Amino acid sequence: MIQENISRILGTLPAGVKLVAVSKYRPLEELQQAYEAGQRVFAENRPLELASKAPALPGDIQWHFIGHLQTNKLRYVMPYVYMIQSIDSEHLLDAIERWCAANGRTVRVLLEMHIGQEETKQGLDEEAIHDILSRSSTWPHIIISGLMGMASHTDSEERIRADFSRIRRCFDSCRNLSNFTELSIGMSDDYEIALDYSPTMVRIGSKIFLR
Ligand SMILES: *Cc1c(COP(=O)(O)O)cnc(C)c1O
Repeated sequence: MIQENISRILGTLPAGVKLVAVSKYRPLEELQQAYEAGQRVFAENRPLELASKAPALPGDIQWHFIGHLQTNKLRYVMPYVYMIQSIDSEHLLDAIERWCAANGRTVRVLLEMHIGQEETKQGLDEEAIHDILSRSSTWPHIIISGLMGMASHTDSEERIRADFSRIRRCFDSCRNLSNFTELSIGMSDDYEIALDYSPTMVRIGSKIFLR
């Protein structure tokens, strides 16, 4: 079933759009099934869950972190992640920079832009994004690679389109910067809409693991 879900979704993605399998809360056997279906990019949103799953699965998996990350949990995440998609504060960038400098590593990150209506959704506004990008040399061990966003959780397609359109415009206004190439938008319920805004990654969980 997982295998069929993955191939069905891949069939709908244009070339150049990477499928990120959101495996949060799913048991290892299901990740293993996705791996056997050829999936190599997985995302988790809780530090300890990532730290327990990553060492138990094959080493050629590319792990992405997509949840709110507290600086005191960095040590669980950093040994495994290829990319942190959920940078929602400068404080977090500072902490990641310190960890990378101390451990001789670099890491790719995406800035999480607040685009949804919900008060609770974290993320940076456009001004904060431009401000961070104008000072990117402050974090020499961090490759700021693009933007991530979550559209409003709503049935209104118009509202969802407005959210994606806003992050797309912000992305376009920054993409003259080197390394700034990734736009991560679209989840199970809205990725087909997101495809109209030319993402480079979609993050899909329930459509792979639950349906
Ligand atoms: C859970 C989650 C997803 C995937 O959600 P689904 O609706 O299960 O596809 C994508 N992005 C983030 C940031 C998430 O937390």
